[in-house]
Amino acid sequence: MQYLGEEEVRRLLDLDALIGAMRQVLAEFSAGKWNQPVRGVLSQHGGFFGVMPASGESMGIKMVTFYPDNAGSSLPTHMAVIALFDPKTGEPLALMDGRYITEMRTAAVSAVATDALAARDAKVLTLLGAGVQATAHLEMLPRVRSFEEIRVWNHHPAKAQQFAKQHGAKAMELEAAVRDADVIVTATSAREPILQGAWLKPGAHVNAVGASRPDWRELDDAAMGNAVIVDSYEGARKESGDVILSGATPFAELGEILNGTKRVEAGRTTVFKSLGMAVEDVAAARLVYDAMMQQHGDGLTPGR
Ligand code: NDP
Repeated sequence: MQYLGEEEVRRLLDLDALIGAMRQVLAEFSAGKWNQPVRGVLSQHGGFFGVMPASGESMGIKMVTFYPDNAGSSLPTHMAVIALFDPKTGEPLALMDGRYITEMRTAAVSAVATDALAARDAKVLTLLGAGVQATAHLEMLPRVRSFEEIRVWNHHPAKAQQFAKQHGAKAMELEAAVRDADVIVTATSAREPILQGAWLKPGAHVNAVGASRPDWRELDDAAMGNAVIVDSYEGARKESGDVILSGATPFAELGEILNGTKRVEAGRTTVFKSLGMAVEDVAAARLVYDAMMQQHGDGLTPGR
């Protein structure tokens, strides 16, 4: 069995291939080709420990921790390990760091949602939050749309200013950042709504990435009154405070949109409520493993 640390995973993960792999696995998931229970979550010391298995074309499990209180320390708020198995024989294939995969597969899934749901000519991208996910979304979303303006807001303005300087974005006040934006990403650890539906331009697309607890919110009821697309109906009904507390009925799974079994009317304002799924982690880990084996075939030592 191979062991891959974060640097190795980073080196092997091709980000354009990752978007393709996410598109494929989301479509397969909604076509019933994967087994995936809703993640189990244990909570302790103010943190959460999630256990996320999935089997289908590949098989594996992610063990992920979310410790919001790590913010500002030397540790990230999210850390993870992924174990990958051969689905035909059950053989363990690899154990790899899952932090970077969690970071990038989440933004890759939002890129798939944006490509499927946002206006073709979307020009203004707004990031709410200036942490790991905001940075990852800035890396991935321009791969599917040609943005001309990047805006950022953070509840601590100094961090937004710093992010803006580093990435050539504009740091703005919350409402002003959302008004007239074509694509909005909410990627915060907020527990109360930060995004108001009244501010959204008709036809805008929102990737709602944070608030992964049943009693946490990032979007108000008006925002959730738009066409809501989820990664998994089952996960959304159990884990999403935005869905549960607003009483919104999800219109479709993203995989159904990709498969063409559900269609959103042109011009509608859309919300992709992302919670993150094990199938995404396992498919991404498989991509890393296959890249490593490919290099091994080319005479390079795996796991180095
Ligand atoms: P980070 O800790 O790197 O960043 C969190 C961001 O949220 C920071 O900008 C922080 O600002 C801000 N923030 C913290 N508290 C609040 C608050 N009360 N109100 C508004 N903003 C706040 O986390 P990530 O970027 O990794 O994750 C962001 C969100 O995405 C989290 O909710 C996380 O659980 C979720 N997530 C979802 C995934 C999915 O698959 N859908 C996968 C991974 C993460 P500051 O630092 O200034 O306090």
